[in-house]
Amino acid sequence: MKVIKKSAKPAAAKTSGAASGAKSAGIKEEIKYSDSKTTISELKAVMKNFVAEREWEKYHDPKNLSMSIAIEAAELMELFQWIKNEEAMAVDKHSPLYSEACDEISDIILYCLSLANVLKIDLSQAITNKVVKNVRKYPSDICRGDYKKPHKKS
Ligand SMILES: [Mg+2]
Repeated sequence: MKVIKKSAKPAAAKTSGAASGAKSAGIKEEIKYSDSKTTISELKAVMKNFVAEREWEKYHDPKNLSMSIAIEAAELMELFQWIKNEEAMAVDKHSPLYSEACDEISDIILYCLSLANVLKIDLSQAITNKVVKNVRKYPSDICRGDYKKPHKKS
């Protein structure tokens, strides 16, 4: 079942956008964005511009954004809901599901970027701090090849 979207939904910016959409979000069409060249700060600015151009700051509060992240995560799960794992693992750039997954992953990340903007979170610092916590929580010598939490191992 496809999620019905409300027309006035303050949605995340779509990455596929038409030329006018790219320009209004501050996306430079002459630049080929890629993970190896684009910074998180640049992506945060794109989302900030997108929200500001529409005067949607009043909607982008932590409650609405955290709910939106969960909703978009559910839309991503919906894509894989009824297909077999082998089918999901076979998805590649040529699969229709690939572009849909790109859109939903982007929606999730865009809302995360907006939440980071609102809460003034430095994402690089927050992410690396969390990885350090995870390394301590899941020591590789104890957890290698086993998903169970260390304190739940028998
Ligand atoms: Mg979506």
